Amino acid sequence: MARIFINYRRQDSEGYVGRLYDRLVAKFQKDDIFMDVDSIKPGVDFINILEEAVSTCDIFLAVIGPQWNTIVDANGARRLELWNDFVRIEIASALKTDKLVIPVLVGQARMPSPDDLPDDLKSLARRNAIELTHQRFGVDVDKLITTIRDAMSLRDTSTQNPHSEAFLKKEAALKALRLELVGATHSPLYAFRTENRYFPVMGEGSADANIVFIGESPGKNEAQHGRPFVGPSGDVLDDMLRTIGLKREDVFITNLLLDHSPDDPKACEIAFYAPYVDRLIDIIRPGVLVPLGRFAMDYLLKKLDLPEKRSKISELHGKLINAALPYGEIHVVPLYHPAVVLYSASQKDTLKKDFEKLKLFI
Ligand code: URA
Repeated sequence: MARIFINYRRQDSEGYVGRLYDRLVAKFQKDDIFMDVDSIKPGVDFINILEEAVSTCDIFLAVIGPQWNTIVDANGARRLELWNDFVRIEIASALKTDKLVIPVLVGQARMPSPDDLPDDLKSLARRNAIELTHQRFGVDVDKLITTIRDAMSLRDTSTQNPHSEAFLKKEAALKALRLELVGATHSPLYAFRTENRYFPVMGEGSADANIVFIGESPGKNEAQHGRPFVGPSGDVLDDMLRTIGLKREDVFITNLLLDHSPDDPKACEIAFYAPYVDRLIDIIRPGVLVPLGRFAMDYLLKKLDLPEKRSKISELHGKLINAALPYGEIHVVPLYHPAVVLYSASQKDTLKKDFEKLKLFI
């Protein structure tokens, strides 16, 4: 079932819609997104197909660009007034139902007033819009994705299906990755782990998290419990999450090394564990990666080959860095490691202020 329907005018907003589609495909299942160019085969009755697709979606995105309201056909007639204008047909059928209809403004477009709209579209003007700006496209789309997810989970709850198929697939993939890690006898820390009866620590949180935190390496406490950040640094992390209204279950927390190492991460350890972390990120597909401390930050910035890759964490903490992974555009927000607060209480305010930046993505 196509759950997200993207309605747009090619001449008006194609560039924005292409970027939006790529981002949505990275976050949801491809089959969950209906976009006419991709899905309608030549020769079929397009009105039937469009109405059917609209009727099966849950969320309808009406993308409105600067010329959306004024585009005319070859005879000079306003397209929005025409009986066979597919943009109008789709929006009108979505507005007749209980779909969540979200106007998505792009290219600095403004919401049309009801007076400018045909009767069957007038109620669109009362829907609260989301704007996607060129400068902050990733952040704006993340907000839209949060809205879509909230709406989807509300609908899922009401139909007794708390988890989407995509979510269950991610959970299964994380479980398989964890099993692989457990059996990784060739790991440089495997002998140390087994001699001490430690657990590997792959991380915990939501398989669908938009924010993934990456610490340095699990401490002894963590290795004894098989959970990340359960010692004193974990208390600081929990506290910081609380200040921005988040719980562990809302995010995913992992480390650059996935076994306890008694020393700072060594190059051979990073080389072994980082590919697991890369795979974990590719499964969860978050919009925001938050390296905690210099080891995770250096790894990510180098892997992403970002211009900031030689900068120090004292220069980059709390900054929003745009980047791209194969599944889409992301943001990297380096933060000091929570342990700084244990060594220097005065750093708590800095960490708190930096955490505030993450509110953009909630
Ligand atoms: N420090 C880390 O970097 N990770 C943990 O899980 C705990 C402490």
